[in-house]
Parts: sequence; structure tokens; C-alpha cells
Amino acid sequence: MDSHLIKNDHSPLNQSVTSLNGVGEETAQQLVDMGIVTIGDLINYLPYRYDDFRVKDLTEAAHEERVTVEGRVHSEPALQFFGKRKSRLSVRLLAGPHSVKVTFFNQPYLKKKLNLNDSITVTGKWDRHRQMITAQTYKLGSKQDAEEFTPVYPLRGAMTNRTLKKLIQQGLDRCTGAIIDSLPVELREQYRLMNRQDGLYTMHFPKSLEDMKQARRRFVYEEFFYFQLKMQALRKFEREQSHGVSIQYVEEDVTAFIDSLPFPLTNAQQRVMNEIFLDMKSPHRMNRLLQGDVGSGKTVVAAIALFGAITAGFQGALMVPTEILAEQHAESLNELFSPIGVTVALLTSSVKGKKRALLLQKLAAGEIDILIGTHALIQGEVDFKRLGLVITDEQHRFGVNQRRVLREKGENPDVLFMTATPIPRTLAITVFGEMDVSIIDEMPAGRKPIETYWAKENMLDRILVFMEKELKQGRQTYVICPLIEESDKLDVQNAIDVHMQLEQYFFGRYKVGLMHGRLHSDDKEEVMKSFSENELQILVSTTVVEVGVNVPNASLMVIYDAERFGLSQLHQLRGRVGRGSDQSYCILLADPKNEVGKERMKIMTETNDGFVLSEKDLELRGPGDFFGRKQSGLPEFRVADMVHDYRALEVARDDAHQLIERPEFWTEDRFEPLRIHLVNEGVLGGSKLD
Ligand code: ADP
Ligand code: MG
Repeated sequence: MDSHLIKNDHSPLNQSVTSLNGVGEETAQQLVDMGIVTIGDLINYLPYRYDDFRVKDLTEAAHEERVTVEGRVHSEPALQFFGKRKSRLSVRLLAGPHSVKVTFFNQPYLKKKLNLNDSITVTGKWDRHRQMITAQTYKLGSKQDAEEFTPVYPLRGAMTNRTLKKLIQQGLDRCTGAIIDSLPVELREQYRLMNRQDGLYTMHFPKSLEDMKQARRRFVYEEFFYFQLKMQALRKFEREQSHGVSIQYVEEDVTAFIDSLPFPLTNAQQRVMNEIFLDMKSPHRMNRLLQGDVGSGKTVVAAIALFGAITAGFQGALMVPTEILAEQHAESLNELFSPIGVTVALLTSSVKGKKRALLLQKLAAGEIDILIGTHALIQGEVDFKRLGLVITDEQHRFGVNQRRVLREKGENPDVLFMTATPIPRTLAITVFGEMDVSIIDEMPAGRKPIETYWAKENMLDRILVFMEKELKQGRQTYVICPLIEESDKLDVQNAIDVHMQLEQYFFGRYKVGLMHGRLHSDDKEEVMKSFSENELQILVSTTVVEVGVNVPNASLMVIYDAERFGLSQLHQLRGRVGRGSDQSYCILLADPKNEVGKERMKIMTETNDGFVLSEKDLELRGPGDFFGRKQSGLPEFRVADMVHDYRALEVARDDAHQLIERPEFWTEDRFEPLRIHLVNEGVLGGSKLD
């Protein structure tokens, strides 16, 4: 299982753990349950944390942190019994400048041992607010002589930390000299990384925190580096080994098309256009991620790229996550393209029967230039005559697998993935590590930033007054209710209730519409249409309006229970207003219960920059939550932490990229262990290497 090592039957690493002293049937089974079969598995089974028994200054200790303090007993121990067996012993401890209460549970005998003015060392959980420690272990006298800094392993069944440590010690001794380091020496030297053998020893038996950090640094780099090698190898393979299409677009036509737009492109739009067209022209297959904040003008970029493909005689496809969005895109692209004779068609689940058959037939005959739709587009029945370019909008809503299916559609079409949720760099290079990235980091001129306010829920009355004021000036309002899962009945009910309340409140003055994921798609379309034509002035909705919807006359958004949303999602929602020339507002209704929640609301009011928010979101919620529940596709690292070790991640990526591009990597012997590692990982098959 230790894939970092060359397969070698004689290596002690490949020996079974049963060859170690003290590993009988029972222990062997416990180890198997933990995924440990060979000695190699055993020594690579790294601790998930370290316990720190060094004496800590309480001023620096965090709430609920496990601390070790030294002090003098400052009060007579007070013992209290609960029932027969349970007891609590409390004593005051003078630790430096702090007088803290220490409680021992179910150790009544300590009452006799602890005397006034005794010095003791206590380890336990620190309650910062109550200035109290719940003791786990204690020792009379000062300083613990036991290990001060000790690894803690994830365990299963009856296995103990102590037993495991002893076995690891034995395993490491047996493997001395046999641990091969596949990390290239030059990189190890460049970053002063421990070799693998020393690193393993230190991870298991650190002499100090500093020592452990050095070893950890090596494994963080190793994990990221191997991961990025995979990504970069995949990327190289996709670009060079797979025969993509070369789209010879007609430059004059494209230029004329751009000149016909009602506005000049921003510099950022021009830059990404060049990147995209270079990819399209080359015989490599484009595999590019286009990032840009809400309203930065990605749709125009998509339209120009599609137009380019058409001038070269190809068809294009635009794929979006919801039917509403598909319809909107179809409408706006039709407006743009029908005057110049480009055919745009819409394929959603509501296109059925004869209509559908006819559409598919036209598509296969090449009579449709651009097809727009939801995931229905990647179903088997849809055949293009000559598909050259596929664009997906709001791409992170499509899973990793859908991404792959999409790439495999047609004759290796170029693929451009667009996302309006700026993805923090560290996630972009892991989750989308096999892709090239273009970023639109500039807004079209003349946009008024949205003013965002955070209000407590008891301020709803005042907000309704403000809403009325905006409505009086002829503008419209979105009211968003949380919906975490489309199927969540409770949340739908929430939207229905809010809708009813607002209908009563604004009765006879303004019309209130309701939109949620459980509506039939025809009804959704109807509601959306009424809102965009200002027949409805207020739209109560769940997050289905999150993506792409464009009603420039809407100038106010009120978001209920805003603390339930991620920052990126709030930003995405907020992007539905501020699309016209009026000053727009976003009001977050929230009573967050903790500091993090408050900080999240506050930062929303402070910045309109989606990239800043996404980094903050990642920092506050962690990578698992960033993409929402199901579809994160995040790799799991054993030692490394994508958020905190992001610098190492970037360095590892650049190194992996450079190495993969160097011809000697593919030929020289010294890279053999690394290549074998990649073959073992299934990244480089023998056939792919040839
Ligand atoms: P995104 O898809 O990135 O959220 P859109 O493409 O929908 O943004 O663009 C938002 C709005 O800005 C649209 O109304 C679009 O016509 C307009 N727009 C796009 N590019 C420019 C530009 N360079 N100058 C002015 N307006 C632009
Ligand atoms: Mg868009």
C-alpha cells in the first residue's frame, strides 16, 4: 500500500506486520482494520495531532484548549459527591499571575494528597470565560517528566496509542536504510527538506515542536507535490496526447462582431479573449477555467468565443445549471445572434416529443449553430454534426464527473468552464488543477457598488419602510429565503410564509411573486417573466435566483437568515441587484450566534470584491464547505492543510509543472522512482508514457 516506494519483494517495507514482535492474530486484525498490512503501511501511518504537555501561559491559551499549567495549591480542596460513585474535587491554583479553579472528577482520593501550598502540574481543558480547568491528568511537583510533546494516532478497536507507537518504533528500526525517497534531491535541497527516513522518524518521535514542524514541512510538500504532479501530468496529457480540434476562426469576422457590441471590451475581457482564442486555434484541446466576479461580463466573452467557433464552421454548446438560466441565455444570445444569421436553439427537459426530435435532427444535420441547455446536453441522445466548443456557465455546480463526460462529448471539443463564484486560488489549483485558468479581474466602467447593510431580525419593520420607499420610485425588490437543499420542505414553507406576510403588508399597492425549486418549470418561467416585466414588484424566492438571472430594474435585495448562507453564495445572490444605473442595496437579516457569524456578516458589508470574499469564506468555513455539500470533489490530504499550507501548495504546483515539462524527467534514471510512483498511482499508464 505504500505507493511512495518502489515495489520490491525483499524490502522490509513489504513484509507483513505479523513479522514484528508482539503482533499476534488479534493485533494483526486490529491493524488490518486500520488499513495496515505491511510494515510500510505501519511506518507511514502518521499521527493526526500531537499532544502538548509543555507548560503554557494561560494568557495565551484559547478557550477550550488543552493546557498544561504549573502552580501552587491556593485553597483547601473541596469535595462534593453526586450519588455513590460520582464526585467533584475543586481546588484553587495560583499559576503565575492567574488564580484558576481546577476540578477533578471522580478522584475523591486526591483530597488527601493535595495540600495547601503544594506545587502541582495539571493538564486539562481550559475554560477561558470561567477561568477554570477541568483536569485530565495531574502530577505533584513541577514539570511533567513524561513526554512533553507526543503524537496521537487515529485508532480503531482495542488498539492503544502506546502499543501502536511501540510497533512503529520496531517497524522503523527494521526499515533503517530501506526507505527510498522519491522526492528529487534537488528539490529537497532547495527547500531544505528532511529526507523521507528522517522525516518519518521525526513525525513519530519528535523531540520538540520545532522538530515536528520541520518533518511536517517535508510531508506537506511531498503530498502537494505528488498531487500536483498528477494534475500537471493529466494536464499535459490532455493537451498534447489527445487530439483536440484546431478552430481556425475568421479574425475579421470576430473583430467586426466585437466592434458591433454596444460597449468596448474591458482590458480584462480582451486579455482572456486572447487566451481563449489561442487555445481554440491550437490543435491542443482547450481545458480552461474562466473566473470572473458577478457582472464582470463573462457572458459576452462566451458569446464571442462561440461566434469564433461558428466562423470556422463548428457548432457550439452552452451548458448552464438551471432551466431559468438556460432560457435567459437563449434569449440574450438570440438577440445578439439572430440579426447576423446565427441559429441559437434551446434544449431543456421541457422540450419534448416532436419538437425535441426535430431539434435533435437539425442539430445532427448542422442546421443549429449554438445549442443552449442544462445537463440534458450531455445525455447520450444529443448528437452534434461538428461540435467544436463547449462552454459551461457556473461550472462548480457541475460535478467533477460531469466535467469529464463533457470533455468526452464530440470530437474532443474545446471546453471552457465559466464560474461566477470566484474560487480561492488554493482551491482553484487543487480542484481544477488540471486546467488552465483565465481571470476577469476588472468590472465594466461606471458600475455603482452595491451598498450592503446588516440588520437584526427585529428591525424588519424599518426594512419594510425602506422597501416601500424604493418601490415608490418604480424599482423592484428581491426577498431571499434560505434553502439549503432544493428538496427541503421546511425551507420551501419558509418562502411561502414570507410571501404571504409580504402580500398582506403590501396588499393593494404592490404585487408579490413567489419562486422556489418545487415549482413546475413552466410556472417558474412565468413568475420570472412577470418579475422581469415589472408585473410583480417583489419577488420572494429561494436561492433558485442565485445564478445568472438579470432584472436591471431590481435595486433592493433583502436576505432572510443570511447567516445560513456562505459568503460566496451571499455575494452571488447580491449580484442580482446593481445591474442597472440606480444605486442598489442589499440588506442581510441575521442574528448570528457566534463571532464567526458576526464576522461573516460584517465582511459582507465591507467589500464587493468576490475574490476577497471567497478567500475569507474558505478561511472561515474550511474547504469542505466551500463548494457546498455534495460536489466538492476535494482531494483529501493526510498531513497537508489546503488553507493553512497554501503557500507550499503553490510552490509544489510550480515545481510539478516545471518538472513535467522538462524532457529529462521522462528519460533520466534519477527520476525513475518518481515515475514509478506516478505509474503506481495510475497517472502514467505504460501506454500513456509512450
Ligand atoms: P457575468 O456573466 O460575468 O455575471 P454578464 O456577462 O451578465 O456578467 O454582464 C453583466 C452586464 O454587463 C451585462 O448587462 C453586459 O451586457 C454588461 N457588460 C459586459 N461587458 C461589458 C463592458 N465591457 N462594458 C459595459 N458593459 C458590459
Ligand atoms: Mg453570467
